[in-house]
Amino acid sequence: MRFDIITIFPGFFAGIFEHGVVKRAIQGGLLAVEVHDLRQFTHDRHRTVDDRPFGGGEGMVLKPEPLAEAVEHLRLAPKAERAAQGETVILLSAQGRRFSQAVARELAQAKRVVLLCGRYEGVDERVNELVADQELSIGDYVLSGGELGAAVVLDAAMRLLPGVLGNDASSENESFGPADELLQNRIAGGLNSTHGAGGLLDYPHYTRPAEFRGLAVPEVLSSGNHEQIRRWRREQALKKTLRNRPDLLCDAELSAEDRSYLRALEAPAGGPEAPARGAQSNDSV
Ligand code: SAM
Repeated sequence: MRFDIITIFPGFFAGIFEHGVVKRAIQGGLLAVEVHDLRQFTHDRHRTVDDRPFGGGEGMVLKPEPLAEAVEHLRLAPKAERAAQGETVILLSAQGRRFSQAVARELAQAKRVVLLCGRYEGVDERVNELVADQELSIGDYVLSGGELGAAVVLDAAMRLLPGVLGNDASSENESFGPADELLQNRIAGGLNSTHGAGGLLDYPHYTRPAEFRGLAVPEVLSSGNHEQIRRWRREQALKKTLRNRPDLLCDAELSAEDRSYLRALEAPAGGPEAPARGAQSNDSV
């Protein structure tokens, strides 16, 4: 998979791809990243990339010509044929479709992704209409530039490429995992899967020491009972999702057992359905 990033601050990306999973993916030939300086595609002495907004108002707007030329330089397929060729040009924008794990999964199918980083008041709208295939926002807030968004989109998509993570199941069985993962977990039945997927948040993880500043690791995790561990993890994922992101429960794939656990969580404390399975310590909501 290849990413091209077009920016007025190419230095922003210095070092950013030289760590961890991204670095290994590049070294392993699974990922290529090229950063392009937008000013290389200007033709005036001052290398001008911005101008005042038509209609007045504060700030400057990135001009369309350098951005269009920068994308043309990449020799992609014509806009109408790009999707079929596995290519996409993304304009980072607070006005875009919200980026999510589902969008990252979609992007990980592409062969080539071009990321256009806006600055100032934004980008001339004709870039959106004529050059970009989609507008993506990384969240409901306004950044000063598209560079952080480009790095976020690249990182989230590239780690979903087969072979990038040591174990491909890691990217399938984690927070926001695909909804059919629950079924696959059941079929696989092993403890490699996290039981937090299926659209839920991940369950809490623990490592040594068994006790840290008075807090013990939940006993069930040392029990060796795989079914109890599976159930505990699933319940913790449900509990965390209910607490932090109840909106996700609407689309999550829930079993009858999950639903009954959630009902018990919402029941008055100490009631007949209060959850008591597996979690011996450190599991308060
Ligand atoms: N006037 C714009 C608005 O209100 O939507 C904000 C422009 S912002 C200061 C400058 C650039 O930062 C944008 O062109 C875009 O590339 C980037 N940017 C800002 N917020 C973003 C977000 N939430 N997601 C992705 N890119 C963002």
